[in-house]
Amino acid sequence: MDRSIPRNPTREVQIGSFFIGSAHPVAVQTMCATRTQDVDATLAQVIQLTEAGAKLVRVACDSLNDAEALEALSRKIRELNAPLREKINLSVDLQENYRVAEKIAPFVAKIRYNPGHLHHVETDIPWREKVRWLVETAKKTDTALRIGINCGSIDPAKKAEDDPIFASALEHTGWMAELGFERFCVSLKDSDPQNVLKINRLFAARFPEVPIHLGVTEAGVPPIGIAKSRAALEPLLFEGIGDTLRISLTVPNERKREEVEAGLALLEDVAAGRRTVTEGWKSEGLNIISCPSCSRVQNGRFVELAMQVHEMTQYAKAYPFTIAVMGCRVNGPGETDHADLGLWCGPNAVNLKAKGTLLGSFPYDEILGKLKEELDRLIGETA
Ligand code: SF4
Repeated sequence: MDRSIPRNPTREVQIGSFFIGSAHPVAVQTMCATRTQDVDATLAQVIQLTEAGAKLVRVACDSLNDAEALEALSRKIRELNAPLREKINLSVDLQENYRVAEKIAPFVAKIRYNPGHLHHVETDIPWREKVRWLVETAKKTDTALRIGINCGSIDPAKKAEDDPIFASALEHTGWMAELGFERFCVSLKDSDPQNVLKINRLFAARFPEVPIHLGVTEAGVPPIGIAKSRAALEPLLFEGIGDTLRISLTVPNERKREEVEAGLALLEDVAAGRRTVTEGWKSEGLNIISCPSCSRVQNGRFVELAMQVHEMTQYAKAYPFTIAVMGCRVNGPGETDHADLGLWCGPNAVNLKAKGTLLGSFPYDEILGKLKEELDRLIGETA
């Protein structure tokens, strides 16, 4: 099947056994939602996602134990048969504990760092020095980098800017140029598709040579999660913007391949010239944001909870409120700050916020009732 789509002439960047940028096909990628330290489950998911068509599969790594698990995962991948082994490309997702990059870089094709998380550890070291160290690590280990900016975990120094995601991307891309490092791509992700559209257009105009990884973060459960992603990604792809993409969906682990299938279907439509969304599309009424979950999810009930929130709130679907349902503290506190009602999951309880104010932490069995009380209160205020 021909999935060739006219691309903007970005720089060619090698990621393991494939390339992005220039005239290379747009690569679909995704992320494991298994516990990284459950090596067998993660291996099974890496294989499932690669066989579904993912060119790159990301795995979270936050600790030395995660790093050891990733090394074990890489050993197991080397034992697979050659045709399968050669198709697998791993990426690692770093958050606060960026120093683990040194341990895992030899086993992965790409390292994603999040500028918003370089400020929480080693606070006496300027972020530029941390990025310099990551670049040196990538060079030594023949690894690509991604500057991965996410609306739920913005660099505190950028929060006051008109467009914090774009401002953070400018700063880090500029620093890469000063460091003379070119083997990287950038992602500018928001849960609002229209902002994803705007900031990626701005970035592509400002840095036409830099490959871009596209995505709407926390798009939620299908089919609305796919519609939100398409609202931003489809116009961008038609404009030649985007070298890799992820459709982020809240689905149970055994359905994770749906992210890849949705990404491939989008590319097929664009390659065939089929437009499925109109410019400026927004979801009507109740907007539910939920993360796709990953190794960091703090309670395995998160995906079920996100789906229950969808079902329980159907009676209020005409109201223009935003409800965020997030799996952990990484993007949970940030994303729920901007929602009318926000839930973010801890190990034993779920934090409930209303317009950024914490109302309390409630057991998993009680949270739906508490959410309904707050939703009814909001509806009452609009009457
Ligand atoms: S909010 Fe937490 S659990 Fe959800 S995708 Fe982000 S890091 Fe993973």
